[in-house]
Amino acid sequence: MNNIFVYCEIENGKVADVSLELLTKGRNLADQLGCQLEALAIGHNLKGIEAELGQYGADVVHVADDARLAPYRTLPHTTLIKAVFEVEKPQIALFGASSVGRDLGPRVSSLLHSGLTADCTSLEIGSHTENKTGKVYDKLLYQIRPAFGGNIIATIINPDHRPQMATVREGVMKKEVIANAKPAQVKTIDVNKFLTDADEAIRIIEREIEERKIDIKGAPIIVAGGYGVGSKENFALLHELAQVLGGEVGASRAAVDAGFAEHARQIGQTGVTVRPKLYIACGISGQIQHTAGMEQSAMIISINNDPAAPINQIADYAITGDVSEIIPKLIKYYKKNSK
Ligand code: FAD
Repeated sequence: MNNIFVYCEIENGKVADVSLELLTKGRNLADQLGCQLEALAIGHNLKGIEAELGQYGADVVHVADDARLAPYRTLPHTTLIKAVFEVEKPQIALFGASSVGRDLGPRVSSLLHSGLTADCTSLEIGSHTENKTGKVYDKLLYQIRPAFGGNIIATIINPDHRPQMATVREGVMKKEVIANAKPAQVKTIDVNKFLTDADEAIRIIEREIEERKIDIKGAPIIVAGGYGVGSKENFALLHELAQVLGGEVGASRAAVDAGFAEHARQIGQTGVTVRPKLYIACGISGQIQHTAGMEQSAMIISINNDPAAPINQIADYAITGDVSEIIPKLIKYYKKNSK
């Protein structure tokens, strides 16, 4: 049984969260398939990277450590991944659906003629029986993602080509350190053997990194507002509640489109994916494109004046009423009871 590979994004020695999330998921899939989990660490100054990647479940780390490999550039990274995959022939290869993964994944897959499912929200192992021939494919990767504008959840398989490739969005899967994990075994990639002048076609002259001012991804508590909040001014109430609870403010797309909140706060299929301990959905109807980005929250409270709002079906507690009346009460009684 061939192995599972995860491409790890590394910037200034820090491994991206999405890569660690994919290692955790990859470990789980590898255990189900009875194969090994291998990581690709391509960059510069990567000494000791195997200890961190081993903590998240990698058995083996293929390391390419060279000044030409950082910061990330498409061509040298593509060349090295292709070279490794041609030798190792992974059955599954996973990338983050980040700007790097979205750049790299399709290039590698087209060079290997493998196909790729972008922006998966779930990965599972399962079988498939071909309708016409009755042929059974065992232990396939189910690549699951919303399709047709989010109206259906599609399960996509790739029975005929390897690797089965997918990109997965940040925050969809959980990263977990494995207790008593061993450092992964290092396999060094011979960079000079594979890189040519053609990989140097693009030179980075200058880089400007913009700090994210709003980052709701890791917030333990999110107070999210929808179109039902009514105005930007009413969103101030949500900010007040979030501040009292020690959380962040999120928003539905309808609220962002109406100018009630910044785009960086949008949660859902075309926004960020979050999994806080507590999600308070205020004036949000709960369309699938929104719930795709928050349904993994540990506890969901909805505040909606429509008792039949779809969000109530996934909420642990549903408060029926007007947000402008309920939220001030929540703030008042939380302050009173937490003294
Ligand atoms: P509405 O659906 O208008 O719901 C407002 C809710 O507020 C209703 O349930 C109403 O009962 C309640 N309400 C009204 N007044 C009050 C009040 N005073 N007090 C309490 N409750 C009140 N949406 C996202 O959120 N994120 C995405 O990433 C996203 N991506 C999309 C991608 C595609 C391709 C498409 C087609 C759509 C996408 N959408 C996304 C849009 C999505 O389909 C919904 O339109 C959107 O989520 C609705 O936002 P809402 O719940 O705030 O508004």
